[in-house]
Amino acid sequence: MLRFRSLGSGSSGNATLVEARCGSGVTRLLVDSGLGIRVLERRLAVAGLHPSDINAIFITHEHSDHVGCARALALRERIPVWMSHGTWCASGEPDYDGLLNMAADARVIEVGDLQLHPFAVPHDAREPLQLSCTDGARRLGVLTDLGHAPPSVLESLAGCHALLLECNHEPDLLEASAYPPFLKRRVGGDLGHLANAQAAGILQTLQHERIGPVVAAHLSHKNNRPDLARAALAGALGCQPADIAVAHATDGTGWIGV
Ligand SMILES: [Zn+2]
Ligand SMILES: [Zn+2]
Repeated sequence: MLRFRSLGSGSSGNATLVEARCGSGVTRLLVDSGLGIRVLERRLAVAGLHPSDINAIFITHEHSDHVGCARALALRERIPVWMSHGTWCASGEPDYDGLLNMAADARVIEVGDLQLHPFAVPHDAREPLQLSCTDGARRLGVLTDLGHAPPSVLESLAGCHALLLECNHEPDLLEASAYPPFLKRRVGGDLGHLANAQAAGILQTLQHERIGPVVAAHLSHKNNRPDLARAALAGALGCQPADIAVAHATDGTGWIGV
């Protein structure tokens, strides 16, 4: 059984738990750790978990809303960490005391009963990776922090049964915001973040009968609204807006079965 849970999503911090249960065994992966360690502990406790229940950490890129407490958590609990060489370099080549493993585009990673498939995305970071995770039966796609989805990204997500999908901004709200022009260009650009309509376009391209739960993630607090993200994704899937979950900045989501 494969399930996932956002522990928080947005520019203030991102962390997602992915859990595979196989017989009596459980494998838990933390995708990004962009929270303070006490905040992460509190949100894990709400999910009934302790940091020592995490078997592996995957960091998608070096931005602080994704790295957060990764090193402190890994060293304290002796949890192995995966990230790209570029992410490690861009975050200052921190010493992980033997716990660091290098991830790369299209190189499969085995963690207990989970298989991770990282893939490169266009984002203004050194070597950003997003990923899909499978327990052999079901597949979850995690896709945040990218300016657009080239064919390679769409191919990497083909066959996913569930998606955590960035819906960063609504272009009209971004344009009308108090952001300085350079930041508007950065966020809305090809190496920035996905607008609601871009996320909907990705869903439309991927749509197949197997796709189930879709969670809108990494919403901008200032330049988006949950109802706009829901409406865009529901339009692409042909479902009701209420069927689309939104990962809250501080509450994340409950457990969602893939
Ligand atoms: Zn981010
Ligand atoms: Zn980023």
